[in-house]
Amino acid sequence: MPRYCVNKNAQSGTRDHEVHVWDCEHGPDEWNKLDLGNFPSCHGAMAKAKLLYPTADGCYYCSRECHTS
Ligand SMILES: [Zn+2]
Repeated sequence: MPRYCVNKNAQSGTRDHEVHVWDCEHGPDEWNKLDLGNFPSCHGAMAKAKLLYPTADGCYYCSRECHTS
């Protein structure tokens, strides 16, 4: 079951709060990573991320199913 993370702060050129698989090469820098825990798919991770950041979106590369815009 993959571990997911979300970036805590906006990064230049990316959305403010994007959900990634922990090891995604497009994921946030270490200091900016918030651990969401393990989920069977990105949907569970998104639900948790949205409690923290209502504008969260899935990463186009590692969580395409959850990428909405
Ligand atoms: Zn990603």
